[in-house]
Amino acid sequence: MASHKFMRAVRVSEFGAPSVLKLCSDVPVPQTGHREVLIRVHACGVNPVETYIRAGSYARRPTLPYTPGTDVAGDVVGVGEGVTAWKIGDRVFTTSTESGGYAEYTVAKDDSVHRLPDGLDYKQGAAIGIPYFTAYRALFDKAHAKAGETVLIHGASGGVGLAACQLARFLGLTVLGTAGTQEGMELVLKNGAHKVFNHREKDYTDKIMEATEGRGVHVIVEMLSNVNLSKDLQMLAYGGRVTIVGSRGSTEINPRDIMVKESSVIGVAVFFATPEEKSSCAALLSTGMGDGWLCPVVGRQYPLNMAAQAHHDIIESPGAAGKMVLTM
Ligand code: NAP
Repeated sequence: MASHKFMRAVRVSEFGAPSVLKLCSDVPVPQTGHREVLIRVHACGVNPVETYIRAGSYARRPTLPYTPGTDVAGDVVGVGEGVTAWKIGDRVFTTSTESGGYAEYTVAKDDSVHRLPDGLDYKQGAAIGIPYFTAYRALFDKAHAKAGETVLIHGASGGVGLAACQLARFLGLTVLGTAGTQEGMELVLKNGAHKVFNHREKDYTDKIMEATEGRGVHVIVEMLSNVNLSKDLQMLAYGGRVTIVGSRGSTEINPRDIMVKESSVIGVAVFFATPEEKSSCAALLSTGMGDGWLCPVVGRQYPLNMAAQAHHDIIESPGAAGKMVLTM
């Protein structure tokens, strides 16, 4: 069991700007309940959704005060009654937590805990949860992408995008990706994309069409739908699918673009994955980590006391180059 009674954790007591994230040093270490695991956290992923929840603008509002964060990596230091899959000392990562991940310790349900292979460090472990489960859901549960098809990862340099590049490449798709900086573009190519384009260049969608010899792409995984959806519909091949992963506003489209290609626009919400869907995804990820083709890319890193800066930067500072993480 954890030897400390109190820990450092980020607490949110009111919804608002990043400054509502306060580092407290006297937060009680959470207790495990039935089928729960206590984890000593070494790193926690920062996901854009955590900024929407903190701002109070998201559909789901936690009860205040709360600690954000779902994607931790660390060591098991305690197990509640009924836990058989985990023991003290196991290296793990999570896909959700009960008490919040921006903290030195967290409690998670035993079925939200996954083994972290020795070959990956804790920061990489903190880059798996939401990014890889979302990329898998978009590509396979929702778009039903198949080997031999061409996929465009529109926004490939961040957490979800790089995960999608690795998964799509391994499963036999032709992978096109976009990024907004040279560094991001290089990472996208290194992580599975056959070709990369700069989404800040004026004519980049023409270049994407040229790369498909005018045929268009079968699947698009879209990170910024309010900016790109209309262009996406024009870049699809007949019967193509756009998955809406990210969107930060409204947009206008011409429904005729969907009609003439019998294409589909499909929403993705990772939180709706069923237990069966989650375990299929977890099985593939585990194989990928074991075989080495799944290798999370860590980008900007912040100590726990800079959580507010991290929340500011993930929204306001473009130029993603991997997954943003907090270290404890
Ligand atoms: P991230 O790590 O911050 O990455 C953001 C990505 O968007 C970067 O690759 C960025 O590229 C790219 N981007 C910026 N401008 C773009 C443009 N004009 N066109 C296309 N892409 C552009 O965030 P993330 O964790 O990957 O998440 C991406 C989005 O998906 C966020 O909006 C997030 O809220 C959402 N999301 C949704 C779900 C769900 O279940 N629906 C789950 C996870 C995430 P540069 O920085 O290189 O310009």
